[in-house]
Amino acid sequence: MSTKKYSVGVDLGGTNIKIGIVSEDGKIIKKDSLSSKADEGPEKVIQQIKKAIKQISNKSKVKVIGIGIGTPGIVSSKKGTVENPPNFPGWDKVPLKQIIKKEFQKDVFIENDANAAAIGELMYGAGKNKENFIMITLGTGVGGGIILDRKIYRGELGAAGEIGHITIDHNGPKCNCGSRGCIEAYAGNRYIISRISKDISNHPNSLLCKMVSSEGKELSPKLIYEAACNKDDYAIGIITDVGKYLGYGIASAVNLLDVTNIIIGGGVAGFGRILFDSFEKTLIERVMKPFKSRINVKPARLKNDAGIKGAASLVFYKS
Ligand SMILES: [Zn+2]
Repeated sequence: MSTKKYSVGVDLGGTNIKIGIVSEDGKIIKKDSLSSKADEGPEKVIQQIKKAIKQISNKSKVKVIGIGIGTPGIVSSKKGTVENPPNFPGWDKVPLKQIIKKEFQKDVFIENDANAAAIGELMYGAGKNKENFIMITLGTGVGGGIILDRKIYRGELGAAGEIGHITIDHNGPKCNCGSRGCIEAYAGNRYIISRISKDISNHPNSLLCKMVSSEGKELSPKLIYEAACNKDDYAIGIITDVGKYLGYGIASAVNLLDVTNIIIGGGVAGFGRILFDSFEKTLIERVMKPFKSRINVKPARLKNDAGIKGAASLVFYKS
C-alpha cells in the first residue's frame, strides 16, 4: 500500500467543474468534468459540486485527506464564504466550505481561483524555488495572485491580487469592474477579440483578415497566434501590444511590492515568445532602476490542469 497522501481538487468555473484526485507531489491520478449549471443558481451549483466529488471518489480507492476548491469571486478562506462570483447569477454570499465539509466530513480548503493557481505554482510549478512572485492568469479576464515570503497575500477581504484592474489609461475603455482603462480591458480575451473584430477590416491584406473573411475561421486568441507564427505583421502587432499593456500595469505592481519574479499562465499565455518578449521589454523599461536587472518572467508550469492542481494543493499548503 502506498503511503502517499491524496486530495481532491475542485476547479469551479462558470461553465464546467473540473475535478481531480491529486497526490501530494502534484500528480493527477483521476480526473473528471461536469457542467456547473451556473445559470440555475447557487443551490444547483452546490449539488453539481457534491455530485462531482462523489463520482470521482467512487472511481478511486485511494484515501483522500481533504478537499480543495478554487472558485471565482471574493473568497474568505477563513470563513469559507464565496461572494458574488462573476458569471454566477443569484450568488450573494455562500458558505461553501461549511456546506461541503458537512456533506463529506473532511477538511475543506477554499480559495479564489487566481490565488489557488499561484499556490499551485508555488507548490508544484514555476514558483517552487521562489520566495516571492506575482502570478498573472490570462483568460477571459486577467487574474492575479501575490506570493510574499512563500505565503499567499490575501488582503483584508480575501480579494487581494486583482492586478487585472490596475488602471493604465484613466480615459480608457470601460471595464467589467465599473472602472475604466484597466489592464483587463486591454489584455483580457473578451476585450482583445472585441477590439480586433472592429479593427480587422482596416487590415484587409493581413493573413489574419484573410483567415477570418475568406476562410470563415472564427477570430480567437488561437487564430491570432497562428497568423503571428506565419509572420503576419498585423497579428504580431496585436500580441506585441497585449505584452506592452500588461507591462505598463505590472510595472506598477513591481514598484509597489519590490517583487521582480513574474509567472504568467492561462490561455492567452499561449501567445508564446512574442508576448513574453514584449512584456518583459516593457516591464524593464518601466520599473524603477534597482529592479531592472532583476526582472524575471517565466511561463506557468502547470498548464492545462492548473486549476485542479492549484485547488488540490490547498490541502497540502500550510498557511
Ligand atoms: Zn477593471
